[in-house]
Amino acid sequence: MIYDVVIVGGGPAGLSAAIYSSRARLKTLLIEKNGCGGQMTVTDLLENYPGFNDGINGFDLSVKLENQARDFGTEIVYDEVTEIKSGKVKEVVTTNSAYEAKTVIIAAGTRVKEMGIPGEAKFKGKGVSFCATCDAPFYKEKKVLVIGGGDSAIQEAIYLAKFAKEVTILHRRNELKATKILQERMLSYPNISVMCNTVPKEIIGKECIEEILVTDLKTNRNKSLKVDGAFVFIGLVPNALFLADVNLDEQGYIITDENMHTSVDGIFACGDIRQKHLRQVITAASDGAQAAVSAGHYIDNL
Ligand code: NDP
Repeated sequence: MIYDVVIVGGGPAGLSAAIYSSRARLKTLLIEKNGCGGQMTVTDLLENYPGFNDGINGFDLSVKLENQARDFGTEIVYDEVTEIKSGKVKEVVTTNSAYEAKTVIIAAGTRVKEMGIPGEAKFKGKGVSFCATCDAPFYKEKKVLVIGGGDSAIQEAIYLAKFAKEVTILHRRNELKATKILQERMLSYPNISVMCNTVPKEIIGKECIEEILVTDLKTNRNKSLKVDGAFVFIGLVPNALFLADVNLDEQGYIITDENMHTSVDGIFACGDIRQKHLRQVITAASDGAQAAVSAGHYIDNL
């Protein structure tokens, strides 16, 4: 069987593409590695997605999108895509199988960036975390460090402040990068403080984290911070490395035009994995809709 559209990745971009593609009566398969929703599933409250003025939990929104895609006829399989072979008929190879398709939409998203400092790997799950929504309850009345100064860091610090005794945000620049509304909200939490011009150097402990060595970039001096946990939110990296021959930018994001065409005929990309300025759930959903429509046009012209 040859699918009209195979979508790689079940975050908001992939699920939106699936909804549009299935409604266009294209035979659609979505392949997801872990569970649908992507990064959105670990977001406690999405406040800027239109239509939900009290916000919506990221996991709840992903369940709704997944059900919507299935209801319109999308098939979903859980497997890991290892290669995409181009040609008139494309082949999407997974760990357990292979699927043929007239078009492929890559919506594989991003994963969290790691710091790469000594101790980070050793204390993963023993004090080093990349998800406040998952791990904050373990830090009731404890001291934690949040590393990063973007939207994720501030949003997650606010979430952590509801559990931890002290939350210190460590940022390498002299001012935060996060959206102003998040910075304003952070000010209403007396247990959050910000330490600027500082970078983490080493994580130290026996069984669990006991201290973190940081460097003050202005004085170049090291100091030790006694903390129980370190939450790392220093950005994202694209999951594009496995992909065959589509053009990537220097950071590994897929280059597309505004209609989501990649450099390879019949292969489209959408959402956080593509080169663009604004990575949000709403821009992922918009990209997904466009990718599905472009895939439909491509099939019409075959
Ligand atoms: P960002 O890339 O926006 O921010 C990463 C932060 O980490 C920056 O402050 C950066 O510093 C710092 N950093 C990067 N590398 C290091 C390092 N090695 N050591 C120390 N600090 C480092 O990533 P986010 O995860 O915050 O956000 C990703 C995307 O998701 C963005 O587009 C964001 O807008 C979006 N998002 C939106 C939300 C919302 O709308 N509510 C919530 C969460 C994410 P520097 O500034 O110096 O580069």
